[in-house]
Order: sequence, then C-alpha cells, then structure tokens
Amino acid sequence: MSCDNTRPCPCTYDCPRHGKCCACVAHHRAHNDEVPGCFFSKEGEATYDRGIAALARDHGLKIEE
Ligand code: SF4
Repeated sequence: MSCDNTRPCPCTYDCPRHGKCCACVAHHRAHNDEVPGCFFSKEGEATYDRGIAALARDHGLKIEE
C-alpha cells in the first residue's frame, strides 16, 4: 500500500504500520471495526484493546454492549 503519511504515532504496540496512518486505518477496519491507537488516551492506548466499546469507555461514554 502506498502511504506517504509520516505523522508521529503515539501507539506503543510493536507494529510495522507506525506513522503510516492510511495503512493503520485500513488494518483496523479489516479487524472487527477496531480503532487505531491514536484515538485513545495514553492510558487507554496502553490496554491494547482497540475495540469501539473500549474507545467509548476511554472517553467516558456509555454504550450498550
Ligand atoms: S494503531 Fe494498530 S495499526 Fe496503528 S500503529 Fe498501532 S498497532 Fe499498528
């Protein structure tokens, strides 16, 4: 995949897609609607739970699971 985005990546997971936002989004969309780590707080990111429910909890939102 061509991707020239070189933004700093706050994700701490060992992954070859660091800084490649287009590849990161495509990867997470293909895996059960997970969300890239940069959407989470530092504490939320550290759990490595990239699910939408985890994102909601991280931002203090209540959703039905
Ligand atoms: S959020 Fe996912 S795809 Fe993106 S750098 Fe982190 S582990 Fe890799």
